[in-house]
Amino acid sequence: MTQSDDTPDAGLAFAQHDHSHCAEDVLARAETLARERGARLTPVRRRTLEILLESHQALGAYDVLDRLAADGFGNQPPVAYRALEFLAELGLVHRIRRLNAFAACMHPGQAHQPAFLICRACKMVAEAAGETVRAALDRAAHEAGFRIERSNIEALGLCTACQERGA
Ligand SMILES: [Zn+2]
Ligand SMILES: [Zn+2]
Ligand SMILES: [Zn+2]
Repeated sequence: MTQSDDTPDAGLAFAQHDHSHCAEDVLARAETLARERGARLTPVRRRTLEILLESHQALGAYDVLDRLAADGFGNQPPVAYRALEFLAELGLVHRIRRLNAFAACMHPGQAHQPAFLICRACKMVAEAAGETVRAALDRAAHEAGFRIERSNIEALGLCTACQERGA
């Protein structure tokens, strides 16, 4: 276990950092997870994950498709959708509903309930610890006699760099 396994560091995504290190670490953990679950990271699935891991930016399915097509994986939308769905199901990729996009999970194989912090200017996404937000939501739902089946906690705003740029 590396140090980054302890708590999700949401600030990292928005800070200057050695992202290649970040991406390598996550990719290695993703491979382990896939192996443990007996899931196959086919070339197109692996490439899709690598594309999303190039930065902390969320990408739409069509952006991913363009990249896959450039790499010779074909230009039919299902190519991208199937790979993204597979990765999302395995927990390697998160759907960012507000942007209708996908972001690589930075904590594959770790139990976490992310609250997504989404920069509206640069589409950078960070995963903050959302456990307490979720617990509050569960409580409120329970009081209303409501049973939550799925929920997505997303906040839209500006990252540090974009605030400084005056976006
Ligand atoms: Zn990074
Ligand atoms: Zn995650
Ligand atoms: Zn930003």
